[in-house]
Amino acid sequence: MGICTSKKKVDENIQIVPYKVCITAFIWNKESHNLFDFESNQAAKKEIELDFSATLSMVDNQIIALTDNEYVNKQIQLLRVDCQQEYMMLSGMSQKSDQRVWAILCNRPDFESLNEWELQKGDMIKLGRMKLQLLDFNYEIDALQQQKEQVENDDELQSKDLELEASQCRICFSKSGSLSNPLFSPCKCIGSMKYVHLNCLQIWIQQQIKIKNQQSSIQYIWKKMECEICKMSLQSTYTYQGQIFCIMQIQKPVVPYMIWKITSDDKSKEGIIQVMELLDKSEIKIGRVPDCDIKLKDISVSRSHAIIKVIKQEDNKYKLILQDNNSKFGTLLYAQSDKLLRYELQYQQKVLYQIGRVLLYVQLKEKGKSYNKQFTCYRHPNQIQVFPKKTINEQATIVPNFEKDKDNQLSFQTHNELNQDDIVINVKQI
Ligand SMILES: [Zn+2]
Ligand SMILES: [Zn+2]
Repeated sequence: MGICTSKKKVDENIQIVPYKVCITAFIWNKESHNLFDFESNQAAKKEIELDFSATLSMVDNQIIALTDNEYVNKQIQLLRVDCQQEYMMLSGMSQKSDQRVWAILCNRPDFESLNEWELQKGDMIKLGRMKLQLLDFNYEIDALQQQKEQVENDDELQSKDLELEASQCRICFSKSGSLSNPLFSPCKCIGSMKYVHLNCLQIWIQQQIKIKNQQSSIQYIWKKMECEICKMSLQSTYTYQGQIFCIMQIQKPVVPYMIWKITSDDKSKEGIIQVMELLDKSEIKIGRVPDCDIKLKDISVSRSHAIIKVIKQEDNKYKLILQDNNSKFGTLLYAQSDKLLRYELQYQQKVLYQIGRVLLYVQLKEKGKSYNKQFTCYRHPNQIQVFPKKTINEQATIVPNFEKDKDNQLSFQTHNELNQDDIVINVKQI
């Protein structure tokens, strides 16, 4: 069969696990702003089985699995599959927005996935091209505990530690900072212009933004905020010691409330911090039509895209449950939590992931009873040339250079388990 010849070659460093990881991928072969059209029948299906740690990469519209010792030209790394003896973990390979791992909330007969998700502070969701991050929510009068909770920041606007150094503020010239008003360096400026107080910057920023009062919410709207001197874009939020600092002065309303940061994949669009009073609302609607509580003006967002249910629990605490509302492109959740990324043979949930224009299911399965040999087969497609990594000059930087396929009609063969005599664990013989 194909490339495998008589000689077996097995990478000694690969740890084989007692289960197999079965991956089913659907590749949408058009670039479409990283939206996946579920109704299209133009997605190719591809299946891969592994029983060792690997990185899933995309090469010429194919998905292949590479060990740490392998390399392919023009690969785009999608997903890391880490196989331990007892469990398997998935993780994203890129922080870039279009290559992150998103879990899809949807309720479709053809694509099964999570129906709902309990939102936590810091969670980021994506509706069409719009991204929303839950910066804060508060239903309890005692807010102190919540403020202590660590919040993960939107890594696109990368978190940067606010530096507490004995330096001078470029605006007020004072040299002292505090935990609530730190002196920090928000841009590339150096020397006497390097540091600024959070509060001093907030006052300056306040003149650059638009504030829009609506019925029960306030929107703080900004278009590209940049340092006047070095022209570097300023982030709307910074994280310091687990707390999110907003460079806009935001007035927190009375409890209960929630605060969202809303940005778009389209960088020319304005960004919004939306502060909402919830009053006694039990449902928050997100979508494109005017009667939505969070209104997103983008054609990629469905008219009534998603719903957040506010549920009071027995202990009088509240939880927020996010649900998709039969939207066209699904409601996506940035997959960071173990709940979404960790798999065990005994405990598995069905999550449909999206990475760029690829959808993926992952499942762990027991190895077949009739299957006595130690290894599962995995073979790279014939047309893809795999190189051992050790031969690559370590100085060389690998720049993925993905070219759009010229042929939209590409089809994919389903991977079959190979003959046991063919066995090759992902090491190409040269
Ligand atoms: Zn100052
Ligand atoms: Zn600057």
